[in-house]
Amino acid sequence: MPSPIAHSTTAYFIFKLTSLNSRSTLLGKHRWQDLAYIILIGNVADLDFIPQLLLEGKFHRGPSHSLSLDFLISLSVAIICYAFNKPQVKQLFLITLGIYTSHLFLDYWTAGGAGMKLFWPFTNSYFMSSVSFFPSVRHSEGLFYSGHIIFIVFETIYSFFLMTILNIIFKSRRNKIT
Ligand SMILES: [Zn+2]
Repeated sequence: MPSPIAHSTTAYFIFKLTSLNSRSTLLGKHRWQDLAYIILIGNVADLDFIPQLLLEGKFHRGPSHSLSLDFLISLSVAIICYAFNKPQVKQLFLITLGIYTSHLFLDYWTAGGAGMKLFWPFTNSYFMSSVSFFPSVRHSEGLFYSGHIIFIVFETIYSFFLMTILNIIFKSRRNKIT
């Protein structure tokens, strides 16, 4: 799996692209609430580390890394927002689905591990690409493992690339308006 660096910048990238034409916030009154939300959704699938730390057994990249839970969580968020009369239910659903799916997409192209239960509960098989794009993060080596520099450099370059694309899109859009 990539680290929260790549998941968070990808979430931000999707959020900015999908809210190009919107000046209003998704949740609450402040932009920081939207940012906190999209970063949470971009990384929430990896919270399956918590039961793995506390209990015996293999939880990571299990059901939380499936397309069905991706859809179910996105739908639940939309239903809750609808119940609370939030105005942007459809946009919130699509952004949540897009960001959660991006997490699965990035993990699919990452080196190491046994893959993920992408089609749970229909099958318990693990899926991953035979060709990897992202270097693996070795959680078992602890926080201060020198080999982590590889994924940190790679994901920083990847994030810089995404932000450059965003910058180009916003610049060309501003030029069109003026
Ligand atoms: Zn993951």
